[in-house]
Amino acid sequence: MEPVERRGDGGGNDGEIVDHDGGGGIGGRNDGGGRNAGDGGGRNAGDGGGRRNAGDGGNAGVSGNSYDGSAAGSAGGRDEDRSAPAAQRPAPTLADVLLAVEELWPASLAEDWDAVGLVAGRPTATVSRIMFAVDPTLEVIEEALDWGAQLLISHHPLLMKGVHSVAATSGKGQAVHRLIEGGCALLTVHTNGDSAVGGVSDVLADALGLTDVVPLAPAARGLPEEGIGRVGQLATVVSLGDFAERVFNLLPAVAGGVRVSGDRRALIRRVAVCGGAGDSLFDAVRNSAADVYVTADLRHHPASEARESAAQGRPYLVDMSHFASEWLWLPEAAKALGNMLTDQQFGVELCVSQTNTDPWDFILTPGLGG
Ligand SMILES: [Zn+2]
Repeated sequence: MEPVERRGDGGGNDGEIVDHDGGGGIGGRNDGGGRNAGDGGGRNAGDGGGRRNAGDGGNAGVSGNSYDGSAAGSAGGRDEDRSAPAAQRPAPTLADVLLAVEELWPASLAEDWDAVGLVAGRPTATVSRIMFAVDPTLEVIEEALDWGAQLLISHHPLLMKGVHSVAATSGKGQAVHRLIEGGCALLTVHTNGDSAVGGVSDVLADALGLTDVVPLAPAARGLPEEGIGRVGQLATVVSLGDFAERVFNLLPAVAGGVRVSGDRRALIRRVAVCGGAGDSLFDAVRNSAADVYVTADLRHHPASEARESAAQGRPYLVDMSHFASEWLWLPEAAKALGNMLTDQQFGVELCVSQTNTDPWDFILTPGLGG
């Protein structure tokens, strides 16, 4: 499958996207217009505000081809050691990384049905390179091994259901073998990453410029600002068409693009978002009085029923790629973890997978625009 490509300005590295292979292949914020971590305004890494935010307000910079967690920036580094090259600081053990991950994305925030945590790896092993990815596919695992990662942190679980064998005769067994043979641990941060402050939906909300953001479904065991999905306000009223374009331009280029249900000229301001499949949240979306709901994997019946029961046409729907919606989180997650490990005086390099794991490759459409 082709690497994720920038669809927007094509203007090279915007200083945010981690590009470990130097090929400039992956893009996230296609128009470069998203709000970045470290801008002082978000709830993500570098804003110094939230309890579980990594970093101290210094700019969690991503520079060059990979993020080594040391680019504290000239304007915000709190202590001298933060700007020391990663290579001059000791690498953490996997156990050290697990503690930092638990601080950022507590396992207690995961849904009951989920399977998060360490899938493979020895806690005493040294971890000097960490790759983030949406899916632990074989292609991604090979990419991680090629880069020399000792830890792959994936959003989706490799082993969601119980298995009786990890023989290398199945795809998942092969994945386990390649990881262990290559000395690379695998860690899942799934619905705990969705729910946490600075999580998947928080990043989406920030990227869309939402303010006064609260969870759509507050976490059963978390802070008030934690939970699944987010809802907030745009700075100004915009048309549904312009808003959909904004969503489209934020996302990595994937075949499926963005689908919209609603009048292109309708005006909207209140926006609900849920990264990944969000059609279980329609009741919460209606209760939130959102004008539009942005999520992924909307199926026919939930979507059409939601439109049938919409009040004055609302909420309108914006359906995006599951992979793309969650990919946006990866650079922010890498920065957050890098900041936390750097604050703990560890030296580590982090990067984001360049592999497009969206399962769809092309689309046929009547292409009715206008
Ligand atoms: Zn997902």
